Amino acid sequence: MRTDLVHPRHNAESALFALYARRAVPRYTSYPTAPHFEKDFPDETYRGWLKALVAEEAVSLYVHIPFCKQMCWYCGCNMKLITRYKPVRSYINNLCAEIDLVAAQLPARMNVAHLHFGGGTPTAIEPDDLEKIVRKIEEHFIFFPDAERAIETDPRTITDEMIDRIGALGFTRASLGVQEFDPTVQAAINRIQPAALVQKTTEKLRAVGVKHINYDLIYGLPQQTEAALCKTVQDCIAMKPDRIVLFGYAHVPWMAKNQRMIDEAALPGAEERAMQARSSAQALSAGGYLPIGIDHFALPDDALAKAAKAGKLHRNFQGYTDDDARSLIGFGVTAIGRTPFGFVQNLTETGAWARAIIAGQLPVSKGHAMGVDDCLRAYVIERIMCDGTIDLDVAGQFFDVKGDWYEPEVGQLEILARDGLITRNGARITLTPAGSALARIVASIFDLYLRHDRARHSVAV
Ligand code: SF4
Repeated sequence: MRTDLVHPRHNAESALFALYARRAVPRYTSYPTAPHFEKDFPDETYRGWLKALVAEEAVSLYVHIPFCKQMCWYCGCNMKLITRYKPVRSYINNLCAEIDLVAAQLPARMNVAHLHFGGGTPTAIEPDDLEKIVRKIEEHFIFFPDAERAIETDPRTITDEMIDRIGALGFTRASLGVQEFDPTVQAAINRIQPAALVQKTTEKLRAVGVKHINYDLIYGLPQQTEAALCKTVQDCIAMKPDRIVLFGYAHVPWMAKNQRMIDEAALPGAEERAMQARSSAQALSAGGYLPIGIDHFALPDDALAKAAKAGKLHRNFQGYTDDDARSLIGFGVTAIGRTPFGFVQNLTETGAWARAIIAGQLPVSKGHAMGVDDCLRAYVIERIMCDGTIDLDVAGQFFDVKGDWYEPEVGQLEILARDGLITRNGARITLTPAGSALARIVASIFDLYLRHDRARHSVAV
């Protein structure tokens, strides 16, 4: 596990870092990444994949709730504001029907080790509706006694009744969107949320039995400064969440229309972003949090820190995880799933998603069947993102791929080594401390699809 995360600040190294940091590359929560899944993916293929799962293997589940009570201007999620509750209730009915449909394809009532509710804001729905979904899942799946049940929440809008229900339903982890406590930044992103509110929500969640708390922070926001973010980090450390995730704000107004409300002139430049990332990472390390991969930090006794130490860290669509299930079944509009055979993504338009379910079809729109080369590259990219090191020959042998499969990439690897992002020892490449912050750049060398990419990604730092 890495114990350092270095964002150079001065000298020629700094200029080089800024140059790489401006490159737009995927976050590699999967390989291939979702923009490269094929369109019009047949639902029969997904049915076949589900039927072929090994009955005794545990699966993980993701439930997408695309509703929020308030709009944040930086948001890049697929979400809808709740103006009337009727469409939400209709969505939940269809979601339960989707769970029935998917479960009917499975070879058995399968075990579950991880359940994650994401969005949107899953706690924006009524507590009875959250319970309805959980009970529907429990009807079709068997939870391990120590299974993780995680839910994302918004401290501004969660009610005491919902907090009590989260406890009663056995949720073990809650993620709170914090982002930044500075009032000027909060005004610039339309998310007014004092530190005291976050602290109170954290205390209430712990009081009902939610053992593990995550905070999400963002750097690179409009009006944000290095000093303000470091103060936010210090305030968060005082509240002792188990994990803190530090994302770089991805300004993609051509994709996320609400981001057009953000004053681009108030956004920090690449150098300032890098300084914010560097200083906040240092403050987190000084506060006792171990850096995990490119953007997670965890207390040493957290499951993620233990997984990283044991070399058992993984990537999924939520970021870093200790979840080692080979299959992740996604429910809800836009949800992405993974099986040993490939990826699927549900329809992204709620009406089309609902119509497919009502017609008795699995509501998939895109997907990708994994070939051997995909599996090899996915493995290499995941290990670079998680461990910061990989032996390319050993990886090839692991997938029974003969010869120098990475020969076309050698030239680019030499450039990365020359620029100080990696070291090379035979077939083993290892991120340097400076290269650790740019793991996405190094991983992208192995991304065959990116070479023909027209999709636009966010900058690396
Ligand atoms: S950032 Fe979270 S709470 Fe804000 S609009 Fe997006 S999904 Fe909703």
